[in-house]
This record gives sequence, structure tokens and C-alpha cells, in this order.
Amino acid sequence: MSILVVEEICNQECVFCSAYWRKIDFSFKNIIRQIIGKWDLIQISWWEPLLNKDIFKIIAFIKKYKPKTFIEFQSNWILISKNKNYNKLLKLWVDIFNINYPSHIDSITDVIVWTKNTKEIRDLWIKKLLISWWKVRLTIIITSFNLEYLKETVEYIHNNFIWIERIQFSFIKIMRLALENLKIIPSYENVSAHLIEALEICKKYNLKADVDHIPMCYLNEYANLHVDYKKIISNMSWDYKAEKKKIKKCLNCEKGKYCSWFRIDYINLFWLENEL
Ligand code: SF4
Repeated sequence: MSILVVEEICNQECVFCSAYWRKIDFSFKNIIRQIIGKWDLIQISWWEPLLNKDIFKIIAFIKKYKPKTFIEFQSNWILISKNKNYNKLLKLWVDIFNINYPSHIDSITDVIVWTKNTKEIRDLWIKKLLISWWKVRLTIIITSFNLEYLKETVEYIHNNFIWIERIQFSFIKIMRLALENLKIIPSYENVSAHLIEALEICKKYNLKADVDHIPMCYLNEYANLHVDYKKIISNMSWDYKAEKKKIKKCLNCEKGKYCSWFRIDYINLFWLENEL
């Protein structure tokens, strides 16, 4: 999997944003050069790709010159409502849209994305994608703000976004803006019960779910929904050791074989050094 960054600005100011500035030349020519060197799965990600004026040309290029490439398009989806090129995008066919879904509650959405009145627009345009039979994954970043409502959010998604492909629950990464807003970071202990309840609702409605960035031991019987578990059992190689570490309790853990352990940013914030 390769990440293709096409922008370095965003229309929202999410309190958890972990995207950072890199010195990249965002000219169309340079982006094309990057695409040529990329593999068969491209994630157009970071910042807001819809802000790139050439975004439709970029996707059209991938479709034409790398037709077998699986394209995931990540967005907060707000700017599509203002974009005259919406129909062009539909014709191009990306393989899946990954839309960041902060909460089903307006006021909570506002404080998470630090931008007013986005919830209704996002909902409307997700529905438009779904009625056109596009594959959509909604990603919920778990913070202290939306944590207690995860179960309700899943109920809402089930009732309002029929045909959704899947939901991903990702524990907040403790990086960049999150480090300036420490009150938004819950502990794994506080997340566990709420997340398990939400996963139970997914199971009840047959909604596909994935979990990321929280160790498997906090998921009880849902540990197999962890994205790293899926990578490990499919023998996928990736460099998780740069971001994750074992702690003492991992040593005798029966899940250890299939687990990628604790994130180092979490260990540092919650003073788990004694547990190493
Ligand atoms: S190996 Fe460690 S992080 Fe993974 S499930 Fe076991 S105790 Fe949790």
C-alpha cells in the first residue's frame, strides 16, 4: 500500500489531526511522477485531497496508466458539496471512499473538527454516494468527545446509511495536534467497554467493522477485528515496530502471537515506562 499526498491544507481543523507538512512539490507533474513509482494499492490521503484543483485529473491518470491499481480516496467529504466535478468523480470510479465520521451529534462533530455545521452536509453527501452504489467506509477516530456515544453512532449509521461497506474505529494517534489537546485522549481502559458495545451493535446489524491503534487485549472477543491481526494472519509484512512496543503484560499473553502491542506514543503519554 502506498500513500499519495496531494495537498497540505485542509478545510477543517480536527483536534486530532496527525498530518504534518512535508516538503513536497504538489504540481501535477510531480504528483504524476510519484504515482508512476507507486504500487497497486494507492491511498489518496492526508489533509483534504478535494482541495487539489487537479484531483480529478490525478485519479483519471491512475485509472488510465495503472488500471489495476486499487484506489482508496480519503476525505472529510465536505467540499464535495461545492465541487462542480462531483459527477466526473463518479464516472472515474475509485474503489472505496474512506470518510472521516466524527460523530452523529452536531455539537460533538463541531468540537472535534473545530469547524461549524459540517455534520448535515457530510451526512447528505455520504447518502448521495451510497445511493449511487459507491463503496464507503466510515472512519470514527475515538476521542474523549465521542467515546460515550459510539454505540449510538453505530445505531445512527445503521439507520441512516444503509449499504455502508464498513466502519473503522481508530483510537486517536497521540501526535501533532493531539499533543496540544491532551484532554481529548482517553485511556484504553475507558475506551474498551464503549468500543465493545459499539462492536456488538455492528455484529447485531451485520455491519463489517475494523479496529485500529488500540491493543487487542482491550477488545475481548472482538480482537480478530483488529486490522493488525488481519495483517499478521495474512503474513503481510509491515514495519509496525517503529510505532509499537511490547510491555510486561504482553510477555505471557495468549494473543501475543497475533498482536502488534502498544503504541509508543501511548506508552509515553500514560507513563507506562515502568511496564516495559
Ligand atoms: S500482546 Fe500485549 S498488547 Fe497484545 S493483546 Fe497481549 S497484552 Fe495486549
